[in-house]
Amino acid sequence: MTERRIAVVTGASRGIGQAIAKTLAQAGLQVVGTATTPTGARAIEADLQPFGEGHLGVVLDVTSATSRTEFFANLTARSLVPLVLVNNAGLTRDNLLMRMKDEEWNLVIDANLGSVYQLSRHFIRNMLKARFGRIVNITSVVAASGNAGQANYAAAKAGIIGFTKSLAQEVASRGVTVNAIAPGMIDTDMTRVLSEQQRTTLLSRIPAGRLGSVEEVAFAVAFLASELAGYMTGETLHLNGGLYMT
Ligand code: NAP
Repeated sequence: MTERRIAVVTGASRGIGQAIAKTLAQAGLQVVGTATTPTGARAIEADLQPFGEGHLGVVLDVTSATSRTEFFANLTARSLVPLVLVNNAGLTRDNLLMRMKDEEWNLVIDANLGSVYQLSRHFIRNMLKARFGRIVNITSVVAASGNAGQANYAAAKAGIIGFTKSLAQEVASRGVTVNAIAPGMIDTDMTRVLSEQQRTTLLSRIPAGRLGSVEEVAFAVAFLASELAGYMTGETLHLNGGLYMT
């Protein structure tokens, strides 16, 4: 029997990341999901238990160098060599640019874009050695459309697309693909903070007439992480119910 492939999914405690972790586990991968707290990490393990042995929940704050080092050391100590990396963790700190604070700018760039750089750089080495790897980066529709009040978030998510294309070119010849998925409005904690009025206005702009589900995003990730997606690289898959067609 061939060894089970290991996938790291950042931000697997809630929302899109939780669905990605479950979908990859169901597809037969051994999943290491991350959360920012030990409670979140334990919840990930409970979530993944129905899909078999070996799935792990591990603490990781992607913005902290110490936390990243501990996370990498934790995997090494368990001899886990992930060949699939899903950079999903992300957050928003919305503000109009005139009012934006440096902390809001820096945190959003670090959490959404810096993390993709840090984790990809760490895990790419073993992927190149194995001559197989899949990196899937979760960007956003606002990377392409822009969004008033989200200059920091849109800049970080647009940065992910440039990063994805560049790294894809560096590693394509060694069987490693690097792609991005740009969800539109997905029903998670991130969108539940919108007011009823914001929600209604947004829905009126989505041709599909509804928010997307986390499972719909997870299914696209599972495709890009699969063996058969080997000829697709450097791409951004838009998944937004027609909200923005590139
Ligand atoms: P969510 O429900 O708010 O969950 C965010 C996840 O990221 C949680 O697991 C959280 O962990 C983790 N996280 C937050 N800050 C972190 C940090 N500093 N270090 C490590 N992990 C951290 O978000 P979501 O809606 O599922 O979004 C997931 C991804 O999709 C994000 O990259 C987001 O930008 C992107 N996206 C979402 C939408 C949408 O409509 N929801 C649309 C486009 C793109 P804890 O539980 O421990 O806090």
